[in-house]
Amino acid sequence: MKKLIANYHTHTYRCGHASMEPDENYVLEAIKVGIKDLGFSDHAPFKGITHEKMRMEFGQFQGYLDSIKNLKEKYFNNITIHVGLECEYYEDKLDYYHELFNDYKIDYLILGQHLRYNEEGEPINYFKKDKLEGFINYKNDLIKGMKSGLFKYVCHPDLFMNFVSEITPQIDKLMDEICLEALKLNLPLEINLHGEFKNKDGAIARGCLHYPSPYFFKKAKKFGNKFIIGIDAHNSNEISEIDYSFLDDFLKETSISDEDIIDILHF
Ligand SMILES: [Zn+2]
Ligand SMILES: [Zn+2]
Repeated sequence: MKKLIANYHTHTYRCGHASMEPDENYVLEAIKVGIKDLGFSDHAPFKGITHEKMRMEFGQFQGYLDSIKNLKEKYFNNITIHVGLECEYYEDKLDYYHELFNDYKIDYLILGQHLRYNEEGEPINYFKKDKLEGFINYKNDLIKGMKSGLFKYVCHPDLFMNFVSEITPQIDKLMDEICLEALKLNLPLEINLHGEFKNKDGAIARGCLHYPSPYFFKKAKKFGNKFIIGIDAHNSNEISEIDYSFLDDFLKETSISDEDIIDILHF
């Protein structure tokens, strides 16, 4: 049975859609279940963009960094903690991403391509049920992000499956493109546990499939991709209550074995 020893996908209350609890709770739960390496990756703030219930405000960023730094020092003997962000890739924010590393000293970024913003900073969703154009835009932006070299791995690469009712040849082709680019760049694809436990009901209600998608991951396994398991915790309980029977079934169904999974990232 697969047992997680690391998790690099952890949110905090600052994004506005996670549980209102102290950051420390995530650390305590992780220690309790034997996680050795814990990365915080809340939704990155963007200067000049306020997106309630989606991402932290830029004004909250220093508090986030300070909080994780304190926890890193406090629990130094029990667990290794990293400070990162989950982030979309936008070409016009390249300088900002470099600033995050150079000036704010974050340890890592993971690529979670959720949406776009227009020039006024208003969100534009990629996805509408079975609208191919949105899936293609997502895939194109995701691949640009992958190629940027800024990200440690690709979060929920199959996010669009929540809006796909049937896998058409066009969908199949864009899945190929995502997998092959990740393979070429040696970027792990995340099997996102939050998708299974929190986001699935909405997708099913609109008559769609959902992520993590066995179809997508079977394909990736055939190509020879590497994988990482991300809890995508929005509540500290999600760390202590991992459904290992789901995970085992999913890995079995997709033929993904221990050798295909990256257990620990190196920084
Ligand atoms: Zn995400
Ligand atoms: Zn996330």
